[in-house]
Amino acid sequence: MNAPQPRANFAIVTVVLPGPTRKREPAPYQFRVTYKNPDPSEPGCVATWTVTGGREDYQIAAERTTDGNMEWHCTCPDAVYHGEYRHHYFCKHVHGLQALLKAAVEPARAPLAA
Ligand SMILES: [Zn+2]
Repeated sequence: MNAPQPRANFAIVTVVLPGPTRKREPAPYQFRVTYKNPDPSEPGCVATWTVTGGREDYQIAAERTTDGNMEWHCTCPDAVYHGEYRHHYFCKHVHGLQALLKAAVEPARAPLAA
């Protein structure tokens, strides 16, 4: 018996990341798109996400700079702590999200069950 599966539209995705406990046991985190810029090639905020599953909910923002690079911001303590190195350091949430987006643009699309 299969429950009906919601369509995968990347609005909400679950990713397993090292958890918030001291042992960092893998835990499911949910990424929910809260904003998408209709013109993502323009400088400015491209998209924002809410991450749930950790100790608190966090916000991630992807920002396109005027020179065309992407900057990533996360409100979790890990990202804030490393904030001054943010060009070289991403917290696990941003890493997870980047991996997810990379997977999403790759052409392998799972065929829908017949
Ligand atoms: Zn984070």
